[in-house]
Amino acid sequence: MQDRFRFCPRCGGILEQQNREGQLRQVCIVCGEILYHNPIPAVAAVLFQEGRVLLVKRKFEPRKGLWGLPAGFMEWGESPEQALIREVREETNAVCVPRSLLGAESHLADPYGHVLVIGYRAELNSPHHEIKPGDDAEEVAWYELDKIPTLAFHSHQRFLSVALQQSSLQHEQDIE
Ligand SMILES: [Zn+2]
Repeated sequence: MQDRFRFCPRCGGILEQQNREGQLRQVCIVCGEILYHNPIPAVAAVLFQEGRVLLVKRKFEPRKGLWGLPAGFMEWGESPEQALIREVREETNAVCVPRSLLGAESHLADPYGHVLVIGYRAELNSPHHEIKPGDDAEEVAWYELDKIPTLAFHSHQRFLSVALQQSSLQHEQDIE
């Protein structure tokens, strides 16, 4: 475990590594506060429209310049669904409605460390809403399903394939 902090956020005391609960953790030598390093929750959205999926070209690290799902970190006090609606709007200008859970994946991504990503299938609130890149995005685009580039994160790839699988099953049911 990498030391993320130099001083105790509670009292400003010096931190040292100690073995606690079978793991090396940062502990304050003054007040005894243990700094737990937990994964950061994030959300990602799969949005389909007319056989295409909405992707965002990343403007910042990690994986700058690669395409990914509209995604971002949850803010304090938000539900995952609220975070999803906000992130999709910030990155693409689209207003969406979360529909179903696609899964949860975790990965290591510098500079954030361990990130837990919750994937949702979502729908656009209004079908022909103008999409345009927000501050975190270099470009946004609707990609044809057979022309999707390799996505920035394994988690995004996984959510997309789950969503594709679900929609093909749905399609088969509709035909029956
Ligand atoms: Zn302290």
